Amino acid sequence: MTRPSTKSQLPLAAAGDPSAAPVASRDADRIAQPASSARRRWLAAGAALGGGALAVGCASSTAPGARGPSIGRVVVVGGGFGGATAARYLQMWGGNVDVVLVERNAQFVSCPISNLVVGGFKQVGDITRSYGGLSAMGVKVVRGDVVTIDAVAKKVRLADGTELPYDRLVLSPGIDFMTDGIGGLQPALDSGRVVHAWKAGPQTVELRRQLEAMPNGGTVAMTIPATPYRCPPGPYERACMIAAYLKTAKPRSKLLVLDANPEIQSKKALFERAWAQHYKDQIEYKPNSGLREVAGTTARLEFDDVKADVLNVIPPQRAADIAVKTGLVNVNNRWVGVNWLTMESTAVPGIHVLGDATFPAPAMPKSGHMANQHAKVAAAAIIQLLRNEPVNPTPVVMNTCYSFVTQRDVIHVASVHQFVATKNTFEPVPGSGGVSAAANQIEGRYALSWAENIWTDMLG
Ligand SMILES: Cc1cc2nc3c(=O)[nH]c(=O)nc-3n(C[C@H](O)[C@H](O)[C@H](O)COP(=O)(O)OP(=O)(O)OC[C@H]3O[C@@H](n4cnc5c(N)ncnc54)[C@H](O)[C@@H]3O)c2cc1C
Repeated sequence: MTRPSTKSQLPLAAAGDPSAAPVASRDADRIAQPASSARRRWLAAGAALGGGALAVGCASSTAPGARGPSIGRVVVVGGGFGGATAARYLQMWGGNVDVVLVERNAQFVSCPISNLVVGGFKQVGDITRSYGGLSAMGVKVVRGDVVTIDAVAKKVRLADGTELPYDRLVLSPGIDFMTDGIGGLQPALDSGRVVHAWKAGPQTVELRRQLEAMPNGGTVAMTIPATPYRCPPGPYERACMIAAYLKTAKPRSKLLVLDANPEIQSKKALFERAWAQHYKDQIEYKPNSGLREVAGTTARLEFDDVKADVLNVIPPQRAADIAVKTGLVNVNNRWVGVNWLTMESTAVPGIHVLGDATFPAPAMPKSGHMANQHAKVAAAAIIQLLRNEPVNPTPVVMNTCYSFVTQRDVIHVASVHQFVATKNTFEPVPGSGGVSAAANQIEGRYALSWAENIWTDMLG
């Protein structure tokens, strides 16, 4: 279904859209905690909206002295889209829940908008945020690497030996890469000569540096793994951003997009149109081109060798190492199965898993927006479980993914997902969602606002 692209015609973006959340969240901090039965109703109603309205309904004061005795301690591992949102909403809605967030990186660096850094249209500082907002609202933010989780003793252990006990654990560790099936890939990544830039940060900056260092006339090759991978439209957006840079700065250069899939995996017609309109001299797209081996900056495919000056390999992905180590991975040897009403692992009780690490419900994308929505379902459910109250039986979540096709023109894909009790999973709501009619600059502004708002929604 085609979706119109003007703001007044984007009602889906309002239901659980981070665009509305920061204002609601600030208000939430000022509203007195409702009585228990009313609070229950508001929690259920709010969770049914996917979280956007829940911030107002489930407010509690976080002011010192206003909290009752603690009803439990929740440790959240991973301060990305899922984990940071969960920590913030547990703190905001829980009132008297102790929330600890453990994250290995000093700062949050966003994957969304990172392709603009690769293209030279943003700096890495533009997509970097601190965890100070979470600390200021009372979340205990711990910098550290979680190396083991003892689900029986209910404690996590950090690399420095610190042990953190929990009543409930939230794990949103994102993805790690499966490099074993591709000869030479791990050494190439270890050497730094080949980057993935599929976790934003130093690799994003390095890919940009390599593009700038490449002579005019040089070849860039980007490989895309077979689905499922993090952010289905992300590689095609990256192709646009690299091509936009080459078109102006290195017009004799080419980008080869080597896709293991038989066709473009998201917003296909819109990307094809953008490539034909803007980048026909820059982008050469090769479907069914799975990467077999990496030798220097040469990509070896089944029947072909592609020699590149800059090789950007997006490797196949699975749930992050800590999920594997903890015995949570129970679907296709790659992903974590969850109970969608609580986001609790189907393998290990007491551990709620969010975001890209999960085996998705039908048509549910691995996106930052979806991880943010998972977090709100989990935060509401955990508070209710700690209070021995029933969890919301009918959650609804939604997703919008914007992609830049030029520095300013953007396309979106949106969807709404409703929990269906008879099937015990989320399913897309018929008739909801869709894609832009055409790339346009208005959505360029929405995309940047979406990013600012979701960063505020998760980090304060
Ligand atoms: C180029 C690109 C563009 C994208 N664009 C969009 C977009 O426009 N819109 C969108 O919605 N999504 C987009 N995405 C997808 C989005 O980034 C992911 O879906 C999202 O980050 C998933 O959130 P998460 O919480 O599961 O994982 P992450 O956000 O990756 O967070 C995981 C965190 O856990 C930490 N961690 C992991 N293990 C440990 C451990 N053992 N101890 C301590 N900390 C640990 C990591 O350091 C990390 O901070 C894009 C992705 C890419 C790569």
